[in-house]
Amino acid sequence: METKIIYFTMNGRPEQAEFPLDCPAQDVKGPFFPDLFRSAAEAGPHDILKLYNPKGNIINISPNLEPNSPQSRYKLEVVAADCNSAELAGALGFDLSSMEKRLQDLEKKILIEAGETPAVVYEMKKQVDSFREKLESVEHLSWLGLFKDLSEGTHKPSPFYHKRTLRKTREECEHVQEKFLQMSSLEVSEEVRQYLKTPNFDNWQWEDAEIMVLLQVMYTDLDFIATFTIESDILQRFLFEVYRRYNNIPFHNFKHCFCVTQMTVCSRTSTASIVLPCFLEQMYGLIWLTDLRRKMDGIDLLIMLTSAVCHDLDHTGYNNAYQINARTELALRYNDISPLENHHCAVAFEILEKTESNIFRNLPMDQYKRIREGIIKCILATDMTRHNEILNKFKSILPAFDFANKDHKDVLMMILIKVSDISNEARPMEVAEPWLDCLLQEFFNQSDVEKLEGLPVTPFMDRDKVTKPSSQTGFIRFVLLPLFMELANLFPCLEQHIIDPVRKALDYYTEMEKALEREKQNRAQSENAAKSKETAVGMQSSADSHSDAGPEPSTPGNTFKD
Ligand code: 5GP
Ligand code: MN
Repeated sequence: METKIIYFTMNGRPEQAEFPLDCPAQDVKGPFFPDLFRSAAEAGPHDILKLYNPKGNIINISPNLEPNSPQSRYKLEVVAADCNSAELAGALGFDLSSMEKRLQDLEKKILIEAGETPAVVYEMKKQVDSFREKLESVEHLSWLGLFKDLSEGTHKPSPFYHKRTLRKTREECEHVQEKFLQMSSLEVSEEVRQYLKTPNFDNWQWEDAEIMVLLQVMYTDLDFIATFTIESDILQRFLFEVYRRYNNIPFHNFKHCFCVTQMTVCSRTSTASIVLPCFLEQMYGLIWLTDLRRKMDGIDLLIMLTSAVCHDLDHTGYNNAYQINARTELALRYNDISPLENHHCAVAFEILEKTESNIFRNLPMDQYKRIREGIIKCILATDMTRHNEILNKFKSILPAFDFANKDHKDVLMMILIKVSDISNEARPMEVAEPWLDCLLQEFFNQSDVEKLEGLPVTPFMDRDKVTKPSSQTGFIRFVLLPLFMELANLFPCLEQHIIDPVRKALDYYTEMEKALEREKQNRAQSENAAKSKETAVGMQSSADSHSDAGPEPSTPGNTFKD
C-alpha cells in the first residue's frame, strides 16, 4: 500500500505520521479521532488542533496534506479547549460561575436584611472579578476555556504571542489608513512644522492618523524624500505598516514610537529652517542645538530617524526579563539575547522587505547595506541591559571624540537613540506625567502576570513596591541624568535645554515622594492611635468583668503598653 509521511513538531518535539494515500478523512480528522495527530498531541476529545506550515499559516488537517520533509516540518498546536469551561473548571476544583452565583445570592440576601453591601462582600466581588479578568486575559490559561482572544480574526497569528496582545483590528487599521491618506495630501502649516521640531510638542493632542502625517513631514523636512528618492506612496505604505505593527498596549505603542522619533528629529533641525528668532528661545532640541546636521551624513540621520520609528515594533508589553523567565518563543528564538530588540528589528526589515513599503528601494545596494547595519545597531542599542556597556564606551571615546571616526559616530548614534528613547522627562510635565502612568500600567500588568504564573517578579514593576515618585527619582538619578550629562559633555549647550527640565522633574518627584512618605506616617500614626483606643476600651471592659485578674502576658494589654 502506498503511504505518505508527514513531518511535524509538537511542543518542539519532532514527530512524524505515516498513513495510506487513500486514507479516509475520518481517520485523520473526524468526530471519533482515531487520528494520528490527536494522539501525537496527547489532545483530549474536545481540544482543537491547529497545524501551521513553515510560513506560519494555519493549514487544514486533511488527508490531502502536502507531504513534507524533516527540514520543512509542520507545527502542531493544541489550542483553547473546545469544552464547557464550567465543566473543566469544576474538574479542577473551582467553578467560577457558581462562585459568582453564590456571591450574588449572598449579596441579595444581605441587601434585603441590611440594605447595603458590606465592605467584605464588596471586596470578595472585586477579587472574583479580577480573578475572572485574569483567566479571560491570560492566553497561557486558555486551556481553561475562559480566555477571550481579542486579536483580529483574520490576521495571521504571530508564533511569538505568548500572551494576549492587543493587536490592532483590521477595521481600526483601515479607518486610520483612510484618514491618513485623506490628510496626507494637505499642507501642514509652517507653525506646526516648527512646533514639531521642539521638545515641547504635546503628543496627546494628536490622533494616530495625524501622527502619521507628522512622521511624513519629518521625512520630508529632512530632505530625505529628495535625497534618497523615496516615493510618497511608498513612504505612506511604510508608515501605515509601522502603525499597524505597534500594538495597543499602554506604553510601547505607536505614540511612544512617535515621541522617540520626534525627540530625535527635534535634534535634527537645520539652522536654515529657523525662520523666526523667537523660536531660538523656545527650541532646545538636541541636534538642532548641536548643529549635528553639519557634522553627520544625511544617511546617518536617515538611519537614526528610521531606527526611532521602528525601535519598539510589535512590543507585547512584557520586557526581556519576562520573555526569558517565561521562556517565550521570542526568548527561545533569540537565545535570551535581547529578544525584544531583535524582534523589533526583524519586524522592521519584514516591512522593508516588501517592495511596496520599502522606503530604501531606490538606493544602491551598498547604501542599503549600510542603512541596514546602522538600523540594527541602533535598535539593538535600546536594550536597557546594555546601558552601562554603551555609556562606558561613549565615556571612553569622549576625550578624543572625532566626527570623522566611524566607530565614534556609531557610538554617538546609539547614545542619541537611547537618549530619545527615555527622554519623556525632558518634556513639559503635563506631557511627561501621563507617560509615566502608562509605563506603570504596563509594568504592573507584567508583574501581576508574573505573580499569577509563579515567575520571578521584576522588582521595579511590582505594584506593591513601586510608587510613581519612587520609580522616577531612582530612574532620573541613576539612569537619565548620568546619560544626559555625558552627552552634554560633548554638547555643553544641552545642559540648559534637556538637563534642566529633567532636574526639575527630579525635584517634582522628590517632593511627591516626601509627601507620600508623610502621608504614610500620618496614616500609620492614626491607625496606631485607633488601635490603642480600641485596646484601652478592651482593657477597661476586661478589667470591669475580671476586676481581680491582671492581664495575661499575651493579652492586648501588652500591645497597649508597647
Ligand atoms: P524601551 O522599552 O522603550 O525600548 O526602553 C526604555 C526602557 O527604559 C523602558 O522599557 C523602561 O523600562 C525604562 N524607562 C523609560 N522611561 C522611563 C521612565 O520615565 N521611568 C522609568 N522608571 N523607566 C523608564
Ligand atoms: Mn522605546
